[in-house]
Amino acid sequence: MALQERQTGTDRRLLPLIGLVVVVAGLAAAVSVAHLPSYGAVNATLTWTALISLVAVGFTAKVRVRIRASNHYIAWTETAIIIGLVVAPTSVVVLATGFGVAIATTLARLPPIKRVFGIAKNMLVATAAGLVLQLFTWPPTDSDIAATIAPLAAAYLAAVLLDELVTLPVIAMATGTSLRRLFLDNWDVRLTAALTRPIVIVGTILIVKIDTWLLLVVPPLVLSLHLLNSNRVRSRTEQQAWQRLAQTTDALNVVELDDVLTTAVTRAAELFSADEVEIELREDGRVVRGSTETLTYDGPIGEPTEVHGATVPVRLEGHDKTVDVGMLRLRFRGPVRLSERERYTLHTFASALCTAVRNAQAYAELARVAQAHAHAAAHDALTGLANRRHLLEEGNEQLHHRHADGITALVLIDLNHFKEVNDTLGHAAGDQMLMQVAERLRAAARADDLVARLGGDEFAVLLRALPAPAVAAHRADTLLAALHEPFDIDGMRISVEASGGIAVAPATGGMVELLRRADVAMYQAKRSGNRIATYAPARDTADIGRLTLGGELPRAVADQEFTVNFQPIVDLGTGEVIAAEALARWRHPTHGMIDPLRFLEAVERSGLLPAFAEAILDQALVAAGTWRDAGFDVPVAVNVSPRSLLDARFPGSVLARLRAHDLPPDRLVLELTETLTLSQLDVVDQGLTRLRDAGIRLALDDFGTGYSSLSLLSRIPVHELKIDRSFVTAMESATEAAAIIRSTLDLGRSLNLAVVAEGVEREAQRRALWELGCTAGQGHLFARPLAAGTLLAALQRGAGGRPGSLAAPLHDAGAVVRLPKGKGRRQGGRGHHRPA
Ligand code: C2E
Ligand code: CA
Ligand code: CA
Repeated sequence: MALQERQTGTDRRLLPLIGLVVVVAGLAAAVSVAHLPSYGAVNATLTWTALISLVAVGFTAKVRVRIRASNHYIAWTETAIIIGLVVAPTSVVVLATGFGVAIATTLARLPPIKRVFGIAKNMLVATAAGLVLQLFTWPPTDSDIAATIAPLAAAYLAAVLLDELVTLPVIAMATGTSLRRLFLDNWDVRLTAALTRPIVIVGTILIVKIDTWLLLVVPPLVLSLHLLNSNRVRSRTEQQAWQRLAQTTDALNVVELDDVLTTAVTRAAELFSADEVEIELREDGRVVRGSTETLTYDGPIGEPTEVHGATVPVRLEGHDKTVDVGMLRLRFRGPVRLSERERYTLHTFASALCTAVRNAQAYAELARVAQAHAHAAAHDALTGLANRRHLLEEGNEQLHHRHADGITALVLIDLNHFKEVNDTLGHAAGDQMLMQVAERLRAAARADDLVARLGGDEFAVLLRALPAPAVAAHRADTLLAALHEPFDIDGMRISVEASGGIAVAPATGGMVELLRRADVAMYQAKRSGNRIATYAPARDTADIGRLTLGGELPRAVADQEFTVNFQPIVDLGTGEVIAAEALARWRHPTHGMIDPLRFLEAVERSGLLPAFAEAILDQALVAAGTWRDAGFDVPVAVNVSPRSLLDARFPGSVLARLRAHDLPPDRLVLELTETLTLSQLDVVDQGLTRLRDAGIRLALDDFGTGYSSLSLLSRIPVHELKIDRSFVTAMESATEAAAIIRSTLDLGRSLNLAVVAEGVEREAQRRALWELGCTAGQGHLFARPLAAGTLLAALQRGAGGRPGSLAAPLHDAGAVVRLPKGKGRRQGGRGHHRPA
C-alpha cells in the first residue's frame, strides 16, 4: 500500500530488485494475455474503462508522507485492484492495472524507471491478489456475505503485504533508513488508510451487486473520500509543522551563539527530517553540523561531510536580503524534493536563524567590547600591566580590607633618562624598552604583587601581605636588581638606571597617600643619589608629590602660573650688571611661590617640558627687550634642561622665539648642565652647534660638579663657565674648593672663556674671587632673583648713583685695566677684568 516514489536518480543497488519485479510482472502479463476472456463489445469497453480508470485514480489519489530524502505515498491502488478482482477475471485486472498505472504515471510525468517499477509492481500485486482469490471459490457460489468477504480480505492482505515487501527494501536502500524505523514511521496514517480501504472495498462490492454499471461511480467516490482524508491529514501535518516551526524559532531566541547553533541544527534536522543539518557562518569561517541528537562537527569551513546525497542549501539572509550571515544546508542520504510547504518553512526557519545568529553575534561582540573596555580601562595598552587607575582601585580594596593580610607597601620605580633613550633611538625602541622593563618586573614580582605602569617611564609594584615593613625594602631591591642587566633593543645593549621609592601603607589617606609617599621617597632617592629610598615622614617637606600627583602641571602651564625671576650677574670689579639669569618660579594659587628644584623634575617627566621651556624663554626675552628699551642692554641667561637638548626641535624653537622678540642672538645665553647621558649624543652636539653657529652664547652651569664637564667642552665650544655655588661657599674653608676654582679660572683663561662665580653671598668671597682672577659673579651679595620690573628699577636706581651697577666698585675705576677683547669668545658687555 505504500508506494514509494523517488524523485531523481536511481541507486545502482536497486536495479537488480527492480529488474526482478519487472521480469516477474512481464511473465504475469504474458500469462494474463493468454487467458483473456471474450466479452461482448459493450461489456468489454465498460469493464476495461472502469478498471483502468479505477486503478489510475487509485494510483493518483494518495497521501504524501516524506521519509527523510524520499516522498512516500499511501495510495488507493490496492483498493482499486481488489475491487477490479470482484467484477473481472484476474487476467483482465492484471492488464488493466498495468494500463491504469501507466496512464497515471505518464500523467504525473514520473521518470521512466519509476513508471516501469510502478507498473510492474502493481501488476505483480494484482496477480498475487488474484491468485489468492483463486484459492477460495471465486466468485462465491452462495450469496452469504462472509463467503464474499473472507476471500477478499485475504486477497487484500496479500496485496498489501506484497506491496510492503517490495517497496520497503527499496525505500530503506534509497534513504538509508532502517526498515524498523520505516515501519514505525507514520504508522498512524498508514493504519487509518489500511482500515478505511477494506470499508471502501466492501462498499463497492455492495454497490456493484446492485448493478455493475455503478462501478463507474466508485472512482469519484474514492476520490472524494480520499480528498476528505488527505485534507484532514494535510491540515493536521500542516498544523503540526507550524507548531514545530514556531517552537523552533522560539527556541532560537537565546543569546549565546553556540546555543543558537546547536538548537538550530538539532531542530532543523527534526523539522525537515534531514540526515544532517549544516550551518556555515561566513564571517566567522565556522561550520557546525549535526543531526537531531547532537552536533557532529564544529570547526573551520572546508572539512568534508560524511553525509552524501542531496543537499538543500538556503542562504541565511534577512527579510530585506541585505545581510548575508552564511548558509544553512539540509543534507539527505538520498535525493529529495521538498514540498512547497516545506520550502516555505525552510525559508522562514532560515530567516529566523539569520536573525538569531545576528543577535547572538551582536551580543557576543557587545560582551567582547565590554570585556575589552574593562581590560583597557584597567590596563596599560603597551605593556599589558595594570594602569594607575587599576592600581588605585586594587590598592584601595587592599587597604580597606586588610584583616589578617599582613602589610601593604608600594614601590615606585622610575627609569632615569628614559626619555633620552626615547628621543635618541626612537619611540619604537622606547616602547620596546618599556615592554622589557615590564616583563622583568613581572618576572621579579611575587604572585601577590600587582605590577603597574603609571605612565611614561614610571612603574609601581603593590606589595601585598608582607610579613613585616622591612621586607618591602628587600623586595624593592629585588625588583630594581631585575633592571640592572642591560636591555637588548634591536641588538643594542642599553643600560638604564632606575630609582625606587618605597612607602608602607599609611593609616589614613588610602592609595593616593601611599602613592604620594612612594613618590616623595623616590625623589629622596634621586636627590641623594641612592638607588632606593624608603619614605621617611621627617624628610617629607615637599608637597610636590601631591602637586604633581594632582595633575596640576597642565593647568599650571595653561594658566601661566610659571613665572620668571631674574638674578643679575655682576662685574665683580665694578659692580655693574653685565647679565641676568632667568630663574623659574611656580606661582601656585594655593601654595604660593614654589622653587624650581621642587617641580622641575616633575615638569621634565610630564611631557610638558617644551611648553614650560618656551614659556620661560618667552618671559626672559620679553624682559631683556624691556631692559634694552630702558637703556640697559644686558643679555639674559636661560637655564636649559638636558632633556630639552634631546629634542631635535629645540634649537629651531629657540631661534624662532629670538626672531619673534627681535633680539640679536648674542643677547641670549643658554646655561647647560652636563649629564652622563647628555654626553656623546649626536642630537645634542648638532643642536648645540646649530645654536652656537646662530650666535647664541652657551654657558656650562654648575661647572666642577657632576660628570666630566670637559668632555662636552671638548666637543661644543661654549662661551662661559659657571663655577658651582658649593665651591664658592667652601672656598675660604676648604683648600680643595679653592683649587677647583683656580683650575677652572685657568681653563677659562686658556680657552678664552668667561667665568662666572655663583652664590656670592659675602664681600669677602667677592674679593677672593676677584683676586683669583674671576671677574663675574652672582649671588645674594648683589641681588636675590627679582621680578623683571624690580630688577629694572634697581638698575635705574643704581648703586652709589651709578645706574646699571648694583655694588660699589672694588677699586677705583683707574685701578682697573681692561684687557683687549678675546677672539670673539667673550660675551658682549663683559670682559676679563684683572686687578692691576
Ligand atoms: P642654577 O642655575 O645653579 O641657579 C642658581 C640657583 O642658586 C638659583 O636657585 C638661585 O636662586 C640660587 N642662588 C643665587 N645666588 C645665591 C646665593 O648667593 N646663595 C644661595 N644660597 N643661592 C643662590 P633656584 O632659582 O632655586 O634655581 C635652582 C636651579 O633650578 C637652578 O640652578 C637651575 O639649575 C634650575 N632652574 C631654575 N630656573 C630654571 C629654568 O627656567 N629652566 C631650567 N631648566 N632650570 C631652571
Ligand atoms: Ca643656572
Ligand atoms: Ca648653577
